[in-house]
Amino acid sequence: MIYLDANATTPPDPAVIEAMLPFLSQHYGNASSSHAAGRFARRAMERARGQVAALIGAEAPEIIFTSGATESINAIHLSARHTWPDRPLLIISATEHPATLECAARWQAQGGQVKSIPVHSNGLLDMEALQAALVPGQTALVSMLWANNETGVIQPMAEIAALAHTAGALVHADAVQMVGKMPVDVHSVGVDYLSFSGHKMHTPKGIGALFVSHHAPFQPLIIGGGQERERRSGTENVPGIVALGKAAELALNSPANIRPLHDLLEQQLLAALPEVEIHSQSAPRLPTTSSIHFPGVDAAALLIRLDQKGIACSGGSACHTASLHPSHVLEAMGYDARHAASTLRLSLSRLSTEAEIPQAVQEIIAAVHHLRAQWDPSVVVTMA
Ligand code: PLP
Repeated sequence: MIYLDANATTPPDPAVIEAMLPFLSQHYGNASSSHAAGRFARRAMERARGQVAALIGAEAPEIIFTSGATESINAIHLSARHTWPDRPLLIISATEHPATLECAARWQAQGGQVKSIPVHSNGLLDMEALQAALVPGQTALVSMLWANNETGVIQPMAEIAALAHTAGALVHADAVQMVGKMPVDVHSVGVDYLSFSGHKMHTPKGIGALFVSHHAPFQPLIIGGGQERERRSGTENVPGIVALGKAAELALNSPANIRPLHDLLEQQLLAALPEVEIHSQSAPRLPTTSSIHFPGVDAAALLIRLDQKGIACSGGSACHTASLHPSHVLEAMGYDARHAASTLRLSLSRLSTEAEIPQAVQEIIAAVHHLRAQWDPSVVVTMA
């Protein structure tokens, strides 16, 4: 298989698995136990906390281990609502991940107000609209994607945070697609909270982290035994935490240079199929992600065809499915359902290899030619 779906999840790094394995067998102590096995687990956990903090320029106590970004995002939204019940306004962007969209829907259902800021046609946030939406004293939280999972567009998070702070709002960055791929320094970007997931940076699934700045208020989502300094109760997932620490160390000390592979992929596709459109080329983008429109091709059929040829990739957002709903991200950028239904997302990781690119490109070109011969333009996938 050639795996071009790293924004959905990444293959676990063998070095990460090697680091965590002893914690699935002989080092099984509960990090809260006072005996030697417990102390061993705790030391490993605190080492990992330091590694994760170092990757994002934080201090170790500012890191809370969670089950993943969805939990981290839920925690921040509920925390902000409880911290400032008298500030009704939540601001998000129109291109958020469903984890944030659903939290925003709950915010509204519980009596809050939500403003969704539009993006330009290249996917970048409309900063003037953000400025106009902020209401000083009324805005509890500005919660936004840093890098988009579908298009790879990188938002100007430092500017967003600075603007939001002028209105006294707290700022949360969904950094799932940034951390481990791009340099992240929480203090220079100025956010109060930042969420990410281990499985997007080569750990197994079920571990993630939440950065909470020393200066920011925080009310826990999960209460109980008081683990994570009363900020996230429940016996810690020590193997996952060790894995995340190792992944963070690898990302910091031996950052991968994925951009040449990404550029090669786009160049080879454009050379063979000059009519394809690569979205958001005028915006800063992750060096891992290409969202590509193939005119005259049904993306769902293309996905199946490529799957049969051993190429794994996705249509719109793959976090929730192989669903045929047009991507809300592309819609927000002004594209219609037909356009979205002909769009593929290819995403690479540090474990992608140069040899895979021409092979994948060849299969994509062959599949596109094959499907175009069968395309029925009267069939449009519509919104469910
Ligand atoms: N935010 C973004 C940008 C994502 O890409 C994802 C998952 O794809 C999430 C949040 C949710 O992460 P998880 O499913 O690991 O909790």
